[in-house]
Amino acid sequence: MAKEKKIVNIANEDESEEKFGKDSHGRIIKLEESGDPEKRAKTRRIFAVLLWIIAIAFEAIGILRLTGKLNILPNIEITKFLIGCIVLDLVFFIPGSLLWKKANHIYPISEKNKTKFWVWNNLGTILSVLAFLPIIIVVLLNKDLDKKSKTIVTAVAAVALIIAGVSSYDFNPVSSEKLAQAEKEVMAVSESGKVYWAPNSKKYHVDPDCPAFSNSETVYEGTVKQAFERNLTDPCRRCIPEIDHGDE
Ligand SMILES: [Zn+2]
Repeated sequence: MAKEKKIVNIANEDESEEKFGKDSHGRIIKLEESGDPEKRAKTRRIFAVLLWIIAIAFEAIGILRLTGKLNILPNIEITKFLIGCIVLDLVFFIPGSLLWKKANHIYPISEKNKTKFWVWNNLGTILSVLAFLPIIIVVLLNKDLDKKSKTIVTAVAAVALIIAGVSSYDFNPVSSEKLAQAEKEVMAVSESGKVYWAPNSKKYHVDPDCPAFSNSETVYEGTVKQAFERNLTDPCRRCIPEIDHGDE
């Protein structure tokens, strides 16, 4: 007996602009379907840069207080103050990186220039060094802090650096070429260009009745671009045959 299946067209799901929250629990995925991808990516990039600047400002405040150049909240003990600055640094830094990565999936750049492609997609990881390494160096070189405080603060900053660096790294970067190739392959088998995925899908499909959906109660319908935005960047080879890349 075939299982009842509900197909949700995500383009009609939500008209409103959703900043970056989304429900990953298989409920309705909010869609950012207003305006063109370039503009939507740009908005996210601006917010990402602002969040990174705020993050690094907290690091700067910590450094300035430690070096006696800024007498802010003098009744908070310096070790606690520094840890607070590092935590706030991290709290602003990570959403910045997530927005940046999201923007790159909404409007991917060309991978023709490999170096530029890597730097652009992993800008958050590169900046995480700037956001946490200077405070580590200043703390280690400081003559007023005792050894125990130095150890605690540098350990916290080092952990924050690793968390920020890893979470900012794009393990699945997409290029404009990859997106174009994906759209070409889908158009070759489906006139509508629509693709489907389930809440737990790792790939996108052109066939809403693909065997991969046999256990899914809900299937989402959208464009290849929308699938890429959700980090679904690999086609199901059962329903989308591969096309040679070719040289343009
Ligand atoms: Zn499939």
